Amino acid sequence: MRRNDLANKNEEDGMMGDKTYNPYEHAQAQFDRVAEIIGLEGATRELLRQPMREYHFLIPVKMDNGSTQVFRGFRVQHNDARGPAKGGIRFHPHETADTVRALAMWMTWKCAVVDIPLGGGKGGIVCDPRNLSDNEQERLCRGWVRQVARNVGPNLDVPAPDVMTTSRHMLWMLDEYEAIHGGRFPGFITGKPVGMGGSLGRTEATGYGVVYTLREALKEKGINIAATTASIQGFGNVAQYAARLYSELGGKAIAVSCWDHVDRKPYTFRKKDGINVDELCGITDMYGGIDKSKAQDLRYEVLEGGAWLEQAADILMPAALENQITIANVEKISPQVRILAEGANGPTAPDADEVIKKRGIFVIPDFLANAGGVTCSYFEQVQSNSNYFWEKDEVLEKLDSKMTAAFKAVSELARQSSLYMRDAAYVISINRVAQAARMRGWV
Ligand code: NAD
Repeated sequence: MRRNDLANKNEEDGMMGDKTYNPYEHAQAQFDRVAEIIGLEGATRELLRQPMREYHFLIPVKMDNGSTQVFRGFRVQHNDARGPAKGGIRFHPHETADTVRALAMWMTWKCAVVDIPLGGGKGGIVCDPRNLSDNEQERLCRGWVRQVARNVGPNLDVPAPDVMTTSRHMLWMLDEYEAIHGGRFPGFITGKPVGMGGSLGRTEATGYGVVYTLREALKEKGINIAATTASIQGFGNVAQYAARLYSELGGKAIAVSCWDHVDRKPYTFRKKDGINVDELCGITDMYGGIDKSKAQDLRYEVLEGGAWLEQAADILMPAALENQITIANVEKISPQVRILAEGANGPTAPDADEVIKKRGIFVIPDFLANAGGVTCSYFEQVQSNSNYFWEKDEVLEKLDSKMTAAFKAVSELARQSSLYMRDAAYVISINRVAQAARMRGWV
């Protein structure tokens, strides 16, 4: 996979590592809590707490050795009251219907909080593409589209890449869709390569989006960004671009972390005078892994993986994985930390979240902070539908204004109603979707 493909690969991630964890139950519990706060009435509550439509199907694929293998595929449309469903397609050997349901639901709230006219969807195939040849993967992609070709489309449901799917898979899917429907429909799918319908700025979008919201949070608190320090978990697509823009705005990132594929454990890389993003990117592989010995040569301190969380910094930015701030480590957060900007999806476990809330740390919740990715995918769809592509500056300017407006709306509600930021974001999203359903006369 190329770096850009990796950048495009997920609008939302998965919770597939921990087999005891059911993301759908988590998503429904979050929903129920806020539905209670806003007193959501019966039918609307029932409608929004589960997907409206699900497609489960089998995909027979002719393998290179002449045999046929049957794969299981899904597409879940959680809600499309505000516009066509939007969400990635994931290839994963542990894909489950409940994971797809949860991710589709979170996409609905993410699109609603940034106020883009899209609903929430998600798809997947139970498979491990690492064990499939390119030709087999192509047949699998085409097979997935054949099963749902009449239930997805630019005006119905717009897929995108996710874990282990890339721009190349998106083009095969587009090609199959266009062959079935007889025409060119570039707005059917996003995450296409630049030059083949992809959008400039998508690579930067999620990380930059995190920092646009952070910049606004600091402004509201009267804190000069140039006087702040940050510690970041991860150094992949989201973390690299977040670190870059934060540094350009004058902030000092003092630590980043990554997974070391050789040692099979994470490390934190610290430079108290501030990391140099270009220098670090120069010794980072396409999976976001930093070369440890080269980092030492560049005078970075190499600390254990969890150290990023314990740094005396003003800002923490988890931008690696889900379930990273837990009840077991939340107390290690330094008293200096004022802001938690969640770049990753679901980095904070619900019980740790309670501790963060009590400590008064200001949270920019995941589905708001990392919505830059799907916002830019929406821009890709708009550009594709009109067959006219914008300059990168224009894309980023539009992204900034969307993210800034979304942040301001959430923080204003949180202030006015004395709500935790995460709850305020949910209140806005759920209300917007509920209102759309009511206006359509569904409930
Ligand atoms: P990536 O694969 O490009 O990078 C992940 C980074 O995390 C790598 O540097 C990796 O080494 C590091 N990492 C992995 N395990 C770690 C561990 N245990 N400790 C410390 N570091 C570890 O992924 P990404 O695209 O940057 O995504 C990061 C997070 O942001 C994910 O939760 C993803 O779902 C979410 N997200 C991404 C996008 C996007 O557009 N890329 C959009 C929305 C949300």
